[in-house]
Order: sequence, then C-alpha cells, then structure tokens
Amino acid sequence: MESSSAATVSAGPGPGPAPVDLLRRLRARGAGDPVTHVERVPARAGVPAPWPSWAPEELRAAFAGRGVTAPWQHQAEAATLAYEGQHVIVATGTASGKSLAYQLPALATLLADPRATVLYLAPTKALAADQLRAVAALELEGVRPACYDGDTPRAEREWIRRHSRFVLTNPDMLHHGILPGHAQWSGFLRRLAYVVIDECHTYRGVFGSHVAHVLRRLRRQCARFGATPVFVLASATSGDPATAAGRLIGLPVTAVTEDASPRGGVTFALWEPPLLPPDSGSSGPVPPQATGEHDDLRQVRRSALRETADLLADTVAEGVRTLAFVRSRKGAEVVAANARRALDDAVPGLGDRVAAYRGGYLREERRELERALLHGDLLGLASTNALELGVDLVGLDAVLICGYPGTRASLWQQAGRAGRSGQEALAVLVARDDPLDTYLVHHPEAIFGAPVEATVLDPANPYVLAPQLACAAVEAPLTPADLVLFGDGAKEAVDQLVAAGALRQRPTGWYWRHRERPEVDLRGEGGAPVCVVESSTGRLLGTVDGGSSHFLLHSGAVYLHQGVSYVVDDLDLADGCALVHAEEPDWSTHARDVTDVSVVSVRSYVDAGPVGMFLGEVDVTSQVVSYQRRRIATGEVIDTRPLDLPTRELRTVAVWFTLSPQSLTLAGVQPADVPGALHAAEHAAIGLLPLMATCDRWDIGGLSTAVHPDTEAPTVFVYDGHPGGAGFAERAYGTASAWLRATRDAIAECGCETGCPSCVQSPKCGNGNNPLSKPDAIRVLDVVLANLPE
Ligand SMILES: [Zn+2]
Ligand SMILES: [Zn+2]
Repeated sequence: MESSSAATVSAGPGPGPAPVDLLRRLRARGAGDPVTHVERVPARAGVPAPWPSWAPEELRAAFAGRGVTAPWQHQAEAATLAYEGQHVIVATGTASGKSLAYQLPALATLLADPRATVLYLAPTKALAADQLRAVAALELEGVRPACYDGDTPRAEREWIRRHSRFVLTNPDMLHHGILPGHAQWSGFLRRLAYVVIDECHTYRGVFGSHVAHVLRRLRRQCARFGATPVFVLASATSGDPATAAGRLIGLPVTAVTEDASPRGGVTFALWEPPLLPPDSGSSGPVPPQATGEHDDLRQVRRSALRETADLLADTVAEGVRTLAFVRSRKGAEVVAANARRALDDAVPGLGDRVAAYRGGYLREERRELERALLHGDLLGLASTNALELGVDLVGLDAVLICGYPGTRASLWQQAGRAGRSGQEALAVLVARDDPLDTYLVHHPEAIFGAPVEATVLDPANPYVLAPQLACAAVEAPLTPADLVLFGDGAKEAVDQLVAAGALRQRPTGWYWRHRERPEVDLRGEGGAPVCVVESSTGRLLGTVDGGSSHFLLHSGAVYLHQGVSYVVDDLDLADGCALVHAEEPDWSTHARDVTDVSVVSVRSYVDAGPVGMFLGEVDVTSQVVSYQRRRIATGEVIDTRPLDLPTRELRTVAVWFTLSPQSLTLAGVQPADVPGALHAAEHAAIGLLPLMATCDRWDIGGLSTAVHPDTEAPTVFVYDGHPGGAGFAERAYGTASAWLRATRDAIAECGCETGCPSCVQSPKCGNGNNPLSKPDAIRVLDVVLANLPE
C-alpha cells in the first residue's frame, strides 16, 4: 500500500491504489454521498496489423527506429484506403496513434514519387510544430518537411515553396497566404498528392464553415493545375464522422472508427457537489438589496472548483498521479492553490507536488512538465484544456473533470488521459451548478449510452459563402462549374455580390472589381474585428470579432488572452479598438443583454394541433445593458453595473415553438404564470441544446413571450448567435422531441423547489432570471411533447 505522507511517495510510476478503493475513500469524506453513478469502462487489448504490403522497407525501418514495430488495425486500414486513393477520416480516441494513419500513405507516396508533395493542416501552430518534429525525426531522404505559418521568416519562405515536399500549416495561412499567392505555389500544388487535415473536429460552427470553403478554394486551385489530391482527416471520436468530413471537404469520405489501440480499464464516477443550506455563510448568496438583482435568492451547490480542489488534494495525498481539467485558467489556478493549501496543512511541503498548467508554455517547458508528472515528481496538475492540443500526457492514474466540457467528445478526450495499458485508472466528472451538468450526472445513459455528438457546420451560410466566393474570385474568375463546387446557395451569393458591385459578370465568368482583396477573418464573424490594445505599451494583443465585442470587451470586462488576464478600460466602437491593462482580479465578468426577435421567413414547420414547431430566419435586435462581477472561486455575485452600448441587429436562423393559450390553461398554467413558464422552459432548453449539437450555450440565444406579434401565440425562440446561423438551431429542430424531452426531465428531476442554476436559471439572462416558474415550465413542455410527433 502507498502511504499518504510525502516522504514515502514513490518517485517512479508505481501502481497506485485500485480505483475502486480510491473512489470509496473519496466519497466517504463528506456528509452524504456525492456520487450519482459509477461506470466501469473495460480495458481493451490492442489489435496489431501487419505493415501494408505497399509500405516501403525504408519507411518501415524509419518507424521501427522510432519504436513503432507494427501498426494497429485502424491505422493500417485507414492508411491503405488513403493509399488506394479514397478520401478517409480516422476518428478514434486520445493517443490511438492517428498520425501513423496519414503519415504512412503520405510518406510512402513521397518516397515512391520524388516529385509528389503533401500539405498538412493543423488548427494551431503548436500542433503543426509538433508534427514537424515527428516527421523530421524519421529522417527520410528528400522529404524536407517544413512549417509555413505566420512565424516563418520571409527569407525561408521561398525555399519552402520550392523545395519542401511536406509543408505543415494552418487554415488561416492557407486562406491569407498560400491561396492568394497560388502563382508562387503552382509547382507545389501541381504535384499535391495528399492533404492531411488533423484535429478536424475543431472545424465546427462558423469557423468550420469558413474552413470548408477554404478547402474548396484549395481544390479549385489544384484542379486548375491538374492535381486531385487525396484528403486524409484525423478527428477525435465524433458522431457520424463521414458526413461531417464530407461537408468539410465537399467530397465523399470513408470513415474508420474502430479503435484498435490498447487501453487500460477506467472506473468513471459522476459526482454532484451538495446543495448548500440557503442561509450558509460567506460563500452563499448575497442579499438582493446588495446587488439589485432578483436571481440571488437562490439555493446554490458547493462550487465545482472547491470540490475539485478537495478531490485533487485527496488523490495527491494518496500518491495518485492526477490531472484536473478546469475550464478557465483562473479556475485552474484556484483549484491548484486550494489543493496546495490543503496538502500543506496536512503535511508541510506536500503542496509543492501540485502545479497549475498555464497556456503559452514553451515546448521545452511542456516536455519538462510531462516528464515530471509521468515520473511522479509532480503528482497533481490542474489545467485548462490547453492540454488537448499541445501536451502529450496520457497514462495517468486519475483524471478529474471540473464541469462538463461541453461535448461528450471532449469528455472522452479528457477522460482518455487516464489509464495505462494493463492498469486501472479513475475518472471523475464533477458537476457544476448548471442544467446540463445536473442533467448528465442524473442521466448516465446520456454519457455512457449515447454516441458522441456530430460536428456541426453549415457551408451554405450566406454570411460565410459570400465573402469566401469573393476571395475565390480574386484568386481566379468564378465560372458556372465553381458554383457547383461551392454548393447550395452559391448562385444566390454571386448574384448578391454582383448587385453590391463587388463582382462583374463577363462572358468568361465573374470577376472581382476592386483593387484590394476582401478582408475575411476565418475565426471571426459579424462586423469588423475589434482590436485589443494594451494602453501602457500600445501593443496589439489580438482581435475579437465585432459580434462578440460588446459582450467581451465592454468597459470593466475581464478579458483573457493566451492565459493572461486583462481588464478593459474603454471600448471605442468608432475606432474599433478596446484599451486594456494587465490585471488579474479574483472576479469574472458576465455581460447581459436585452433582446427582440422578429420572424423573417419560415423554412420548415410541424403543425401539431395546439403546438407548432418552426425553423426559419429571424432578425434579432439586442443591446448589452449591464454586466455582473462574480467571484471566481465561489460564483458569488459581487454587483451588477450598467453599460451604455448601442443596439445591434443580427439576421440568423432560429427554431421556435408555439402553444395555444387554451392548451396551457387546460394543462393548469394560469394566464399570469405563462411568461414565467415559457421563460423557464426557454432557459433550460438553451442549457440542454449542447446535448444535441457541438455548441455551447454561449453560441445560442433565446427569447420567450406570452404573445409574440409574428406568431400571435405564446412562443419560445432559440436562435444561433452567429449571422446567418451556424447549424445549431437546425439541429435543434431536427431533434426537437429528444431535445425537449431531456429539457423536461432536467427540470423535473432537479432537487430544488423553485428553480436554480441547475435547472431553469441562466447565467446570461437579460431579465435577471425574472419571472421564472419551474412547475409551469414542466407543464408547458408536457403539452409540447404530448402533441409533437417523435
Ligand atoms: Zn433546480
Ligand atoms: Zn432569461
């Protein structure tokens, strides 16, 4: 048995306590049992495959030199499909060796054809740099791998274009640099055999829709030079990866999803922090007169951060190597600091074995951290999901997940850090005080019995399509064949660009009329980006898209950039610039807005007697009116401060449902309670939508009203928070009954009496969570579900 004293914790990776015993001790420490479910994820033996016959001896030897003696079955299968010319996606778990699946066919082709080239795309520069090292370490003759991104010195760029046959870059560089400069890249593109798209599940929502068109622009340039490259995509486990990958590249894709790599067994516990007594002390709610708000008369649970810190201290005291995932960097620091304090109180000095991981580490520092944790010099690490893209840490004894990370795919990616081959590990999901987290810890089947979410993107979004077509027109005049390539809505978008004077139609195609290229930011949407500038130095820290600027950069906002915290002094909308200073207060800020929705058109609807379900276009008018300051450690509201910002318009896609007033009366909802019933149902529905699509509640908005001028009935709207929509409302419409069923259950099963953040209260409500009626929300949803076809 391991001792819990620091002096005797072994430095080497020895076996920790059995996860079942460890969990038993953890759950016995407080009053009541916080564990709502324990799932045993069995160990899996690896299934090796022989090297494909087409893989040259030189390449096999190079991999053997790096410790790879044979591929796993899924690697060999995907590699052979790609080598035979099929577009393929390999979608398997963390550390399942997806890179071999694309390295094998790509490098075999480069060895066989001394002219062929490969383009590798990663969502971050750090990941491309890591992949460069992996390929370079194989020391293959004539491949000359090189990164080509914003950091590449001008002097090296021409050499790379001319001589590298394995170029590693990111979609932004492809969009801003390589495609506009296609003439200089013609030699490379003409011989392009493979395009590798790594971590392709990160291309979702509006960003994903932009990347989809950047890839169509790439295919178009290749076709002009006579090349038709094969696409190999790698993804975390995701739902229906073939369809999502097909939408991303615009071509049919074969999926390989059977993970044949070995994995240790994991005991997975769902953990719900206890409700605090309503009159508890300093960490409890503040009286309403202190804040001017109504929503603080609420019952709250012990914060997930505190609970995670305690668990981290307990596992470290047991000598268990533990990684805690926390959503924000400040949160990760709070967890690490609290765990350190608790450990030092027990055994002075033991706290030194816990650290917080911050973004922005150099590669050497990251490797040192990995080494310290894997060797046991460091026992506990609290981190944001920066680890998902950057640090290669697997084989831990325990993983703590502080708050549902938003998708089952991310949850499994984080839990996948636990468990070495042949050894058991523990994973714990600690629920935050939030409807989705609460629902999940009481519905383990929604985690363990459901497939992971599909990656949602919508290349037909006109707000993405039109600017991308403009970029394409600059690269070469658009032809009727291009309209097919760019898909649904392309003709309408071109007509709009002609009407706006941006394109001119000639017999040979549509031509860009201006001298300058259009400015299109793949990662931003909705208006010109706002620059974030440090006042004292004048340094440009970054940009935030116009759509989010009122929420993130209002005066007084706490703004995080690459792990460093800043406070906004002034948002100058005329100049498109926010002035900030470095400061790390112990509160976070949460902006609130007021909203109006009007229906523009209905795309599709279901007429279900007293209930109607609709999908269509809407105009949303909103104004950010105030912000709350909340303590990071406890979530306690400090105060609410007014803001003076202009209103803004958003044309987007919404799902909405209506009910007849009679059906509500029949269900026992008094007319005076209808607004509170609809409002509560709206909040919970927004909170549960991430169960159906890879969005989080900040990607979507809502509005409810007892009578809406356009529908003339009690109505609940849920809309995409991005111009033109991002596919989320469409997904909600497509899964309406499952979505609203989960919403209804989440409210009904919450242990609170009158509504709490775990069910019907929303952290971003523009009305201060008032009015809300929890029991009537259940009645509203019952009426909808009783009438709506499955
Ligand atoms: Zn509740
Ligand atoms: Zn609200």
